[in-house]
Amino acid sequence: MKIDRISAYALDLPLTDGVYAWSGGHSIASYDTTIVRVDTSEGTTGWGEVCPLGPFYLPAYAAGARAGIRELAPHLIGANPLELARLNVTMDRALKGHLYVKSPIDIACWDILGKVAGLPVCEILGGRFGTDFPVYWSVSQDTPNAMVDTMTRIRESGIRAWQLKVGGPDETTDIFRIRRAAEAYPDDLIIADGNTGWLPRQARKVAKAIKGLPVVLEQPCASYENCREIRRMSPLPFVLDECIDDIGPLIRAVSESALDILNIKIGKVGGLTKARQMRDLCVSAGISLTIEDMPGGDLTGATILHLAHSTPQTHLFSVTSSYLKTNRHFAEGGPQVTDGRAAANTAAGLGVTPDMKMLGLPLFEITA
Ligand code: MG
Repeated sequence: MKIDRISAYALDLPLTDGVYAWSGGHSIASYDTTIVRVDTSEGTTGWGEVCPLGPFYLPAYAAGARAGIRELAPHLIGANPLELARLNVTMDRALKGHLYVKSPIDIACWDILGKVAGLPVCEILGGRFGTDFPVYWSVSQDTPNAMVDTMTRIRESGIRAWQLKVGGPDETTDIFRIRRAAEAYPDDLIIADGNTGWLPRQARKVAKAIKGLPVVLEQPCASYENCREIRRMSPLPFVLDECIDDIGPLIRAVSESALDILNIKIGKVGGLTKARQMRDLCVSAGISLTIEDMPGGDLTGATILHLAHSTPQTHLFSVTSSYLKTNRHFAEGGPQVTDGRAAANTAAGLGVTPDMKMLGLPLFEITA
């Protein structure tokens, strides 16, 4: 089997609640997503998606993804999509870095592998653990009361886990945000996600103020070293996210006991092949996992659920529902959340079939 065509499509997915805001005054009103289609010589088609959270969150942006895929695609025509390790070596040789560009291609080839094997991707990634698992809601940064109001509204859907978007610019307001949420719903899972936004002095102040609360602290500062300092002074369970973008930084963080939980964003680390490697390392090292992406729509959601469902439930800490923030669905078989819980699709591959009318004309198609 050979790859004989790679196509890319762009789609705008408006957010249902209007604006999604996080640390540093950043916000977006829609997901600017890129969908990749990989066609093969045997007629099997695979799909993947990459969707940076605007151009100012991670070193990734939508136009960069599209330019990178166009750059990379000619090197992959004729490659075997079933040989995922070889495919990733070929991508890394052809384009240094830019892991997020490679992610939708890698994911599309996992989709092809599943379809050829007649198995859902989660079963190839390690097996399906349990029947389903809870998902969390990211609570857009707002006043403390408005954030609790959001939790109250979303709780009607059955969700009981939350990622509060804190991280400044005013850390005193952040302390109120976290306290109000923990007072309102002390039995829920509450993760205070700084998203790199605090300076060390601000993060120390927050960590001291919330040390007795039933909450989890995530990525308070930008650098790994500053996060490690906060981790060492805080008794709270501690998540690293943005500063762990590859296997090397993960090995260092594990060896220095700098985290309890790793937040894996599939696109940030380069796709399912590398995300699985990091996931498996964490499981072996006793580190729990939050499974996310950067975020995205139906294909991204399905990919997240396959990785999550193939993670031992003992180690699965939380799973995002960011794909629910838009009502614009472009595919059949996208993620379904019922009473706050989700499961990976049971069809072969990712189990997601995009509506070609919604995708429209491709931005480009690369063939032999
Ligand atoms: Mg995070």
